[in-house]
Amino acid sequence: MDARGPAGGMPRRAFLAAALGGLAAVSLSSCTDGRPEPTSPPPIPTPDGSPSPTPGGVPRPLAFRRSRWSADPFVRGAVSFDSVGATPDLRRELGRPVEDRLVIAGEATSPEASGTVHGAYAEGLRAARGIAALAEPDDRIAVIGAGITGLAAARTLVDEGFEVVVIEASDHLGGRLLTVEDRGFDDPVVLGSPFVADGGSMRSVLADAGVATRPFAPVVGPRTPDGVAAAPSTAGWDVIASAQAWAVGQSSDVALATALVRSGAVPTSDEAGADGLSTQDWFVNALTSGVEPTTGASATRVSAKRFDPDLVWRPTSQVTSGWTGLIEQLADGLDIAGASAVTGIAVDDEGVSLRLDSGESLRTHRLVVTASIGVLRTDTITFDPPLPLLHQRAISTIGMGALDVVWLAFDEAFWRSTPDGSAEGEPNVLTLVGATPTVAAWLDLGVDPRRPVLVGLLAAEHARRVAELDDEAALEVVLEGLQPFVVEFGPAAD
Ligand SMILES: Cc1cc2nc3c(=O)[nH]c(=O)nc-3n(C[C@H](O)[C@H](O)[C@H](O)COP(=O)(O)OP(=O)(O)OC[C@H]3O[C@@H](n4cnc5c(N)ncnc54)[C@H](O)[C@@H]3O)c2cc1C
Repeated sequence: MDARGPAGGMPRRAFLAAALGGLAAVSLSSCTDGRPEPTSPPPIPTPDGSPSPTPGGVPRPLAFRRSRWSADPFVRGAVSFDSVGATPDLRRELGRPVEDRLVIAGEATSPEASGTVHGAYAEGLRAARGIAALAEPDDRIAVIGAGITGLAAARTLVDEGFEVVVIEASDHLGGRLLTVEDRGFDDPVVLGSPFVADGGSMRSVLADAGVATRPFAPVVGPRTPDGVAAAPSTAGWDVIASAQAWAVGQSSDVALATALVRSGAVPTSDEAGADGLSTQDWFVNALTSGVEPTTGASATRVSAKRFDPDLVWRPTSQVTSGWTGLIEQLADGLDIAGASAVTGIAVDDEGVSLRLDSGESLRTHRLVVTASIGVLRTDTITFDPPLPLLHQRAISTIGMGALDVVWLAFDEAFWRSTPDGSAEGEPNVLTLVGATPTVAAWLDLGVDPRRPVLVGLLAAEHARRVAELDDEAALEVVLEGLQPFVVEFGPAAD
């Protein structure tokens, strides 16, 4: 079997060496001029009629949208992850008030649900409660960021009677929940989190805001580079489990890649099994289509002790209506300054001074900061005095993973096995085994087969690399990655 991935991928051995490292739309009005590149560029115009296929046989999509979160200077990634040394306690420390004036909050401060929408929402409520407990009744409070954390915090504080101003750097509300309308797609296109955890704390919040969801029970369908459907195997996960078991016995945490090498778990033989695939093939599949899309990071950065394989492709709910209803409801009536980036925060005994990129400044009594860990790691915002050492340690230790989505609408579901394109009984998470994919997984959202949609999930370095490409080049790269999933329909064999 060819060990090279579809064009744009990398040979499996090169991937192993790299993976194991050196060891072996809610718009705001006023805001386009001079602003950073938007997260999602305008769509490629939808051609009339049936577009001709690519040279590789992949039909041309009718519509295409994508996110570029790692290139967004006010997000710089997609989800925080546990890198070596990151613990729930460290996340808790990051959320502790500073000088009784300032609280940092976001998905990254959630000890139990980091990297999630419900974790971010809960942190917004926690930050609001924390700052309200410190505040005087007539205090003026600023909130940096109008993602779900910032909006939940601001809404709660306003409801408690505080005067609140929200300052948002970008030209949209919702941050990483950005949802856009595109006539090429039947449903709103979610460029941030397409999913929300089933049930739990957010169920009634979503229902109140009219956010529609439907269950998404992942059924993983691996294909080889030659387009052959393979039965899923646990062989790759057994390798990772053995490395994690070794890591648990070590006094200090190490990266998953280190544990894989030092424990001797990395498969050395590429001898094929009955399915024509080796343990090495399944190991690479587990890394690229499991570890990377779950964390946004490669095994060289993910903590061996803290990576949780149970989070990989577990049942969840797809947000079919997009997030706009929730964002609008939370933002309703709030005082929001859009397209205004905070560049400096100075805390003193009397209050907090904020410097904006426009040169203006603002004085408030208290502050909630909801910029992502990716932003806090840069010098986008300076703190005077510097943040306490534990906060600084948390910011430099907690990882920021990269994830991006690519939405493609087609006139037929060419990846499904029946000519009528029914999603019934078909896998809805398509992965590549036997080569290294650029797109970690293709999600078949099972929508109207007259205009079926695939959502490609790019992760870790692949997401960062493709985010740097222009639209046309990015589209070519992801379409090449679809070649193994083109199913040929023909007369039934005798
Ligand atoms: C592609 C992708 C897939 C995901 N998949 C899932 C999933 O399946 N399930 C799940 O639960 N979660 C998922 N998530 C994670 C989820 O979207 C986030 O955890 C959540 O939206 C984070 O919200 P937040 O408010 O903490 O941060 P953000 O949404 O990043 O909000 C912070 C806001 O602060 C603003 N800001 C930053 N710096 C400044 C500044 N200097 N001045 C003013 N404003 C500033 C930003 O512009 C932004 O609007 C995914 C995210 C992405 C990107």
